[in-house]
Amino acid sequence: MLRAPHSCLIFVLTTCLNVLVFLPATAQSVVSERALRRVVGELAGDAMRGRSVGDGSVLAARYLEKQFQRAGLQPLPGAASFAQEFTVYQSRSQELTVSLNGQPIDHSHSVLLPGQPSFSWTATQARPPRLLVVPAGVPLRPYVDSVFKAQQDLLVLVHPDHSRWFNSLVAHYWSNSQYSLTPPDPFSVVLLLTTDTKATSFSVSGRTSVRPVQLRNVVGVLPGRDPAHRNEQVIFSAHYDHLGIRPAVQGDSIANGADDDASGTAAVVALARYYHKRHDNARTLVFVAFTAEEVGGFGAEYFSRQLQPRQVAAMLNIEMIGTPAKFGLRSAFVTGFEKSDLGAILQRNVPATAFRFEPDPYPDQYLFYRSDNYKLAQLGIPAHTISTVQLPSATYYHTVDDEIANLNFSNMRAVVQAIAAGAASLVSGQSTPTRLAPGTP
Ligand SMILES: [Zn+2]
Repeated sequence: MLRAPHSCLIFVLTTCLNVLVFLPATAQSVVSERALRRVVGELAGDAMRGRSVGDGSVLAARYLEKQFQRAGLQPLPGAASFAQEFTVYQSRSQELTVSLNGQPIDHSHSVLLPGQPSFSWTATQARPPRLLVVPAGVPLRPYVDSVFKAQQDLLVLVHPDHSRWFNSLVAHYWSNSQYSLTPPDPFSVVLLLTTDTKATSFSVSGRTSVRPVQLRNVVGVLPGRDPAHRNEQVIFSAHYDHLGIRPAVQGDSIANGADDDASGTAAVVALARYYHKRHDNARTLVFVAFTAEEVGGFGAEYFSRQLQPRQVAAMLNIEMIGTPAKFGLRSAFVTGFEKSDLGAILQRNVPATAFRFEPDPYPDQYLFYRSDNYKLAQLGIPAHTISTVQLPSATYYHTVDDEIANLNFSNMRAVVQAIAAGAASLVSGQSTPTRLAPGTP
């Protein structure tokens, strides 16, 4: 008699365990607000100093490597760890001294695009720089192209008619570093704001600092379980870097980047845990936390160079999903929605009454081109960004006020669950989105 309740209990327990083991994990059961809040809290904590490249991003990468490990991911085939390391070159305009036609030019009327470590030019040297004059009242576009596609030393005289453009260059190049995957080209470009249209005499000397910086993407994989589909990949990504330390506002100088893009990165970690628990992905799933998005998408660019584009069925990049979208709760938009049928596939797998994937409501902001998806889209991959940001009214965007307190975690959980459910037929190999035109889709 006494044994009966005991054996009954064992029976009940094993039945429960069996149910737990054999029921497939659902997005509802795996993706929790608490887990999302924990990852965003770590990444957007002051200890990570705003995750700028070469500073707090190192700590953030180490944290994400641990998260990928815990989620049950594996490193890329042939890689020893989740870190995908590469070098960028950080260059910064340091000094420029100019006199033109006998007159010294004020610092605020001159700008140097970083190039050679040091140079000096005169009008009488053997191979003087090429001269480009931007007169008043002309459309700027072709001149902008000539400046940024220069392949030799270039001295540009810009008429004050174009001072708005010129001042934006001054503000940018004298206070920001530039980054590139290869060392800067061995020539320099100098622009002067002046009414002069001739450079009969000039002397120009300048200095640029260049230093290599080691960066890392964090990349983990769940190998495909179906031999017919395991060579096909679906990529889930977000960028973990942000802007670092900014001019202080009310004593706060850390741009924590809770929405941009700790929210997307937390989603990638949650999706990794979800698909690992499901154990049924036919295609190979690649989870990436990119670095260096904010300084030009170099993490995604490096990553894209290691890929076989034809093997990538889709890329779902996730950016700024921490606040409700323009369309209300339980909705998100897909950038470049009309360029492939990826958005339509996501919606097919999720009832529109439960969640809506909408086209990008801000086409004039060119968001499709402004995030890491674009580096892969250029290779023909159906690569889109999923977001909820209300860009025109998001006053915290790119300021020190992008804090965790602004985030709506219950809606964010709904977004991540919708992505998980929406991607089901991509993960199972049942749907393959149409490809983009390679080049500039
Ligand atoms: Zn971002």
